[in-house]
Amino acid sequence: MKFLLCLCLFFPATAPSRAQTHAPSGKPAYQNPALSVDRRVRDLMQRMTLEEKVAMLSGSGWMESTPIERLGIPAIKMSDGPMGIRSWLGPSAVTRNLSQIATTAFPAGVAVAATWDPELAQQEGKAIGEEMRSLGRDMILGPTVNIQRLPLWGRNFEGYGEDPYLAGRIAVGYIRGVQSQGVIATVKHFVANNQEYERHRVDEMIGERALHEIYLPAFEAAVHQGHVWAVMSAYNKVNGLYCAENEPLLTGILRKDWGFKGFVISDWGSTYSTAATVNAGMDLEMPGGAAAKAWLSGPGARASGNSGFWLTPDKVLPEIRAGRIAPATVDANVSSILRVMFASGMFDRTDAPSGSVDTPAQRAVARKAATESIVLLQNNGAVLPLNLSRLHTLAVIGPSAAVARSGGGGSSLVHAPSAISPLEAIRERAGSRVKVLYAAGVPMQGDELAGGAPADRERLKSEAVKAATGADAAIVFVGYSPSLETEGSDRKSMDLPPGQDELIQAVSQANPKTIVVFNAGGPVSMDQWTRVSSILDMFYDGEEGGHAIADIVFGDATPSGKLPFTFVKNLKDSPAYKEYSGMHLKTTYSEGIYVGYRYFDKYKVSPRYPFGFGMSYTRFGYSSLKVTPSSISPNQTVDVSLILHNLGSRAGAEVVQLYVHDGHSTVDRPVKELKGFARVDLKPGESKTVHLSLDRSAFSYYSTAKHAWVEDPGKFEVLVGDSSRDIKLQGSLELTH
Ligand code: BGC
Repeated sequence: MKFLLCLCLFFPATAPSRAQTHAPSGKPAYQNPALSVDRRVRDLMQRMTLEEKVAMLSGSGWMESTPIERLGIPAIKMSDGPMGIRSWLGPSAVTRNLSQIATTAFPAGVAVAATWDPELAQQEGKAIGEEMRSLGRDMILGPTVNIQRLPLWGRNFEGYGEDPYLAGRIAVGYIRGVQSQGVIATVKHFVANNQEYERHRVDEMIGERALHEIYLPAFEAAVHQGHVWAVMSAYNKVNGLYCAENEPLLTGILRKDWGFKGFVISDWGSTYSTAATVNAGMDLEMPGGAAAKAWLSGPGARASGNSGFWLTPDKVLPEIRAGRIAPATVDANVSSILRVMFASGMFDRTDAPSGSVDTPAQRAVARKAATESIVLLQNNGAVLPLNLSRLHTLAVIGPSAAVARSGGGGSSLVHAPSAISPLEAIRERAGSRVKVLYAAGVPMQGDELAGGAPADRERLKSEAVKAATGADAAIVFVGYSPSLETEGSDRKSMDLPPGQDELIQAVSQANPKTIVVFNAGGPVSMDQWTRVSSILDMFYDGEEGGHAIADIVFGDATPSGKLPFTFVKNLKDSPAYKEYSGMHLKTTYSEGIYVGYRYFDKYKVSPRYPFGFGMSYTRFGYSSLKVTPSSISPNQTVDVSLILHNLGSRAGAEVVQLYVHDGHSTVDRPVKELKGFARVDLKPGESKTVHLSLDRSAFSYYSTAKHAWVEDPGKFEVLVGDSSRDIKLQGSLELTH
């Protein structure tokens, strides 16, 4: 009796009976896969000492959490993401020259967003999940869903562009794919990591409405629709608090409002306190162990503001003893981690890692994504596609022609077993009949030309002009490289690296059929490209980017990518320009909800190319818009249908975009907001009926008076177009009370 009483006090209401705590085999209940996740977590938690629980709050290595061997709790083995699997052996400075871990390099996030194809994002996620499993890793640090607020953000290539709805849809696809393989996806960086400049120190003052309408929705979609298992807190401060100790964000919004049941992991070296961080709901500090110690004591990490070792037992236990951290808080944090470990199957894996990386199927996904992502921005005189049967000589020029620029720089850069450059792929496809001439034209800033000798710019340029002169067409590959567009710093300007504009001018003067293809994560200046016929944006298109661009150039594939951001003419047109001088440690997001096309529409500023824009080799016709029913109550959904026709003689895909305009609201609202889209493949001459649906979230805005999403009844316009500025069909509906 005495014994029982004592047990009850120890394990109050949730205390399981002895029969329940052991599986039939005599194993403890937490080792029984047939029991629910919550049941297993409770069972394991009651077996852990406080010291063991506290040990789980910090990492044991660069990419490993702390295992508790006594209880068979494994370390979570992580790896960067998001565009594939990156070496987990240390920071970039360590892994840069390591080639041991080579996996499929998928296109950059911005490229995947340009496909507007959540199913493809899911295939990519699945392929990454398979590769993770084959390498015995448990958790990928991706996707990145931070909004493209500034044209110069060094990580624009990693995220899914400027629109929260598009970013959310792509992220959900990616997460579903990754997690279908029992691999933990990590949506990052929560929240508003929108600049690299002073990312550890900058304090972003973001209004409540902008936070909810622009910066949070992709995370919310990841939680609600993607059921993501982990969230990474951002480096920066939001409204005065570091994200890793931001209780309103981590507990208020993420857990209470959204019901997130997974765990929060810190960005690498982004913790600055003990009690405040644990109490805010930040569950796992990374990195840890010797690798972290070496890194954090280096001058680079310190200068940039990295900080860590705040959640180690020597720091946390005294805070518990002093009453500044409640044991129940530690229980909540550790339970969140364990819940994910059980849910993802980490405790139940008996088989050794199997499968392989960079398989033909995985490469095929990378190629499809790259091909679908490429955006045709200009095609004067229908120079593209090049007709191979009529081609004799083709000049392939530029500092990015013979190099596969598969990704931007920093923690996301994947080392691929083999990546094909545009030049190789063009030669492969053109065959021996076509003479493919190559000239670098200009050295890429920071790269070394073959042989390492300093280049004579005039000689290089005249070689390029010579190749272009008399060729049937010239293709110039320009843009940035992973050392110029990278995590850790923002681009200095929208200008191309030195000498590239001059090269474009010289080549386009020599050859009237000049095609420019560029690599960049955001907009670039094009003021000097006045004579160019065609322009293609290929972002950073992964290891298969070369094949993809050859497919597009020769018409084996029809371009179908659409810009996931507004392509500004110049930096000063950007809404955040005034607030980003790269000098302040406090940045006020004074543009509020007017980010990207929302700003350009409202203030009637003409972009160079609008959000959602992308040309094709075929033409599409839109007709027969129907909005059914035309009057709805807030809990009903609306079906928006239309007929899409391929009016040309080539197969192609169109991205039908659905925007909603609220003209009657009591608060200021954007001219239009993206609320639906569909990517539709059509054969020549084919027509298809396209259905899109809208629910109440399409009509609502975030009310700062009510601290909630609300919708004002009345008439809403429904706008269907092939970009945010080319509306083809228009209808309306009435929202009643
Ligand atoms: C990046 C994260 C990355 C982490 C681990 C940080 O510098 O911001 O995105 O996952 O490093 O490499």
